[in-house]
Amino acid sequence: MTKSRHRVLSEPRVIEARQHGLSPSDVNPGALKIVHAIQAAGFSAELVGGCVRDLLLGHRPKDFDVVTEAEPDTIQNLFRRARLIGRRFRLAHVRVGREVVEVSTYRALPNVGDDGYEVSEGDGRILRDNVFGDRDSDARRRDFSVNALYYDPVEGVLLDYVGGFEDLNAGILRMIGKPARRFREDPVRLLRAVRFASRLGLMMDAGTEAAMPDARLFLQKVPPARLFDESLKLLQNGYAEPTFRLMHRYGFVAELLPEITRHHLAGDIESRTGLVMLALRSTDDRVRMGKPLNAAFLYAVFFWRAVCDQASRFTEEGGAPVQSLHRAISVVLAGAQSRLTIPRRVTAVMFDIWDMQRHLEKRRKNMVTRLLEHRRFRAAYDFYLLRAASGSADQTVSNWWTDIQKASVSSRVQMINDLAGGRGSGRRRKRRRRSVK
Ligand code: ATP
Ligand code: MG
Repeated sequence: MTKSRHRVLSEPRVIEARQHGLSPSDVNPGALKIVHAIQAAGFSAELVGGCVRDLLLGHRPKDFDVVTEAEPDTIQNLFRRARLIGRRFRLAHVRVGREVVEVSTYRALPNVGDDGYEVSEGDGRILRDNVFGDRDSDARRRDFSVNALYYDPVEGVLLDYVGGFEDLNAGILRMIGKPARRFREDPVRLLRAVRFASRLGLMMDAGTEAAMPDARLFLQKVPPARLFDESLKLLQNGYAEPTFRLMHRYGFVAELLPEITRHHLAGDIESRTGLVMLALRSTDDRVRMGKPLNAAFLYAVFFWRAVCDQASRFTEEGGAPVQSLHRAISVVLAGAQSRLTIPRRVTAVMFDIWDMQRHLEKRRKNMVTRLLEHRRFRAAYDFYLLRAASGSADQTVSNWWTDIQKASVSSRVQMINDLAGGRGSGRRRKRRRRSVK
């Protein structure tokens, strides 16, 4: 049912930006230029969302988003290098030099209900969300109050419709409107809540937090492809460990990745030296050191015990070890895909990481060189290191692989020759056994 009511437009609280350390020079020059140009053409234009929030918190914003009352066609006429994108809600990408700035038109609230906030579409999720509106409605349809601050660098003011400025100063993450309803409208907001709380060190507002445990059931409605994208934002922003802890606390992990809560030992998830925690921390360390991340690595950790459990079930039923492992991988990945679309390029790496574990463990003389040259060796070795550090693989073996990478060519040969059993490196055995235990 659609309700429509007139809501009295509210006036924003206007805050002097300079008094709070915000000046136009903090804004990326391209975005600043665009705001000036739109205003010069007679339309309102401001910076909004994450960039304003981050600037006020003293963080460096990832990107600067511009909003305006001008409609996309107007923006396209104003800027030679503007491209309209989006099918559902059109917005413009404007190029300035080498930057691309997103310029969107204020949006209306989807369907305004009694409290001025709601939407309803069957199960309460937002399905249509494409009507232009005014700044007031634009603020109210955003997720958290701290994400709904507008900064007009020309006037030097912040515009606040929902108490975001006060919340930001108090360090509070508060959902705009009725939390239960807003989480139902778009369950991804649950994930955004834990992401902002852990990355920005904000405290969850009590009402917002109270709605989270019940709302977690809606996570199953998030389309699997969007969930994968969101999961990367959660895990690759340098705060994977605190984010994961919060997600576990609210029961999101059990909802999204039951493979973790069902198969990993409690210690893997909760102890600082558990496999999952070690992997999250090493991911955060890599972000801090500016090293590249591979999505497959964390997912390989998450599903590892599920794969092992499934593989032992197949061997108990009489399957050969290698076939059992490969079957287990297919079964576990197929189960996960219904909730989370993990792209093939990622699952292919996960497969290699898992498959190489047995070779790393065995250290067969004629495999060592081949393994060291394998393009996934580094990831598989890092994985083995974590397993050893968490007590689920052999520390001596792990040290050996660390040493051989540092060794000179001659000591490498020596190390390989010193391995027990088998013939020298590089020579294949005449009769290859069909399965490697
Ligand atoms: P980040 O620094 O991670 O980019 P952000 O707040 O900028 O954080 P974006 O995903 O870039 O997040 O979104 C920009 C803005 O759009 C948000 O600040 C928020 O106001 C609004 N927004 C984004 N996603 C939602 C959502 N699911 N529901 C309501 N508003 C949203
Ligand atoms: Mg952003």
